[in-house]
Amino acid sequence: MKTYRIEIDANLCSAFGSCVDAAPHVFELNGGGVADARTAETDDAGVVEAARSCPMGAIAVYRADGCERVA
Ligand code: SF4
Repeated sequence: MKTYRIEIDANLCSAFGSCVDAAPHVFELNGGGVADARTAETDDAGVVEAARSCPMGAIAVYRADGCERVA
């Protein structure tokens, strides 16, 4: 099991791309102009910074072993 579970609200995403800067191995901008996560779970702590940096609050990061939200 990985450390973090990621959820992106595509309705909030405005494609600023700061999540891609913070965690380029996890996030990418798709052709529709919103962010996608390459994986739903990861050990990459950059996802926490990605969530904190998102100006739209579109990214939620949880501990993969429970429901605790970390960012
Ligand atoms: S930082 Fe937020 S608004 Fe910008 S691309 Fe990522 S999820 Fe979308």
